[in-house]
Amino acid sequence: MSDSPDDLCPRSDPPPPLSTVPHAAALYLSSVYRCTDPDQADALLSGAAAGYIYVRDGHPNGDLLAEKCRQLHGAERAAICGSGMAALATAALSLLAPGDHVVVSRHLYGRCLQLLTGELARWGVTHTLVDTNDLAATAAAATERTRLVVVETISNPSLHVADLAGLAALAHARGARLLVDNTFAGPVVSRPLEHGADLVAESLTKSMNGHSDVLLGLLCGRDDAWPRVENVMRSYGLGGHPFDCWLAARGLQTLALRCRQACASALAAAQFLSTQRSVARVLYPGLPAHPQHALANKQGGGLFGAMLAFEVVGGREAATKFIHAAEQIPFCPSLGELNTTLSHPESTSHRALSAAERAALGIGGGMIRLSVGIESPEHICAALAQGLAACG
Ligand SMILES: *Cc1c(COP(=O)(O)O)cnc(C)c1O
Repeated sequence: MSDSPDDLCPRSDPPPPLSTVPHAAALYLSSVYRCTDPDQADALLSGAAAGYIYVRDGHPNGDLLAEKCRQLHGAERAAICGSGMAALATAALSLLAPGDHVVVSRHLYGRCLQLLTGELARWGVTHTLVDTNDLAATAAAATERTRLVVVETISNPSLHVADLAGLAALAHARGARLLVDNTFAGPVVSRPLEHGADLVAESLTKSMNGHSDVLLGLLCGRDDAWPRVENVMRSYGLGGHPFDCWLAARGLQTLALRCRQACASALAAAQFLSTQRSVARVLYPGLPAHPQHALANKQGGGLFGAMLAFEVVGGREAATKFIHAAEQIPFCPSLGELNTTLSHPESTSHRALSAAERAALGIGGGMIRLSVGIESPEHICAALAQGLAACG
């Protein structure tokens, strides 16, 4: 055997033997695993034996994260996808076929609306957009070809709260499944499977990872909704990267703490904003004035999430002044960061809509959406007061 650098350098050596177990999770970046012989390769690739062989088909960091998420949601199955959108695409591609119909909430995340109404139309899947707060209208929108009803637990930016049990019952009565985008709530606030949902999708990019450095998604749910999921993920290449999974698993270790702190601060911020003369209205399910406060309380077990929206008096001009003056609250059009951030729906998430469509959703130029972080309520209220002082 040659020991020249040319031959030593590319050689893949086994790790030193471990007599103790590392306490922190290991990271397995390997894109491929060695097989002992053709029989083992055959068994692994056919699924007859459990094990890893190629990273697109599965890896330890993905499985570790999926298992934690599965337990958090009380799900029978869970899979980690490369993004929240990859998780939603996996659900759609697994459950739908040409000729099928989807009932789609009007209040879904913009990119999700594009997937379900624009992209799926190219595969021969039709849809009806409805206000899913109206159960009768949602039931009426379902046809005998409806296979899927899609809603968000808490919607953006109006913070509508979906009646998950009611929606599950009406979907099931039609032989359809309920898919819930639970990104705004997360599993500490809401576990939709307990309320009858069949599948839950979440963007792990947001508060689940919580540290603004990962793009990943989760799909979890009932075993009977799962038969095609793994094949779809592998064939379309929708899985997540090991390093992202490792980071997200680390973020999840503090999820419960972060979530409770952010929910408490969000409630304090909503209460503070409600007392301000320069604020026209505040949307937060934790306020008794919210139309679905009782439902949110029942479904969320006393937690109402870290997202809220408010409207400053004076429209877009006042909102711009607020954004410049609120120096402690970065304008980041995402959510679920460690610190409090804001977004402006009219110019970001809802800019593709016409003014009339935005008006129908109650989104004006003065609306600001807040993603509350883990800072103290006092810090957040002071940061908001600094912004409001400039609104005049
Ligand atoms: C961000 C987000 C998504 C998409 O997730 P990505 O990880 O960005 O692909 C889906 N739904 C909601 C509600 C989101 O906020």
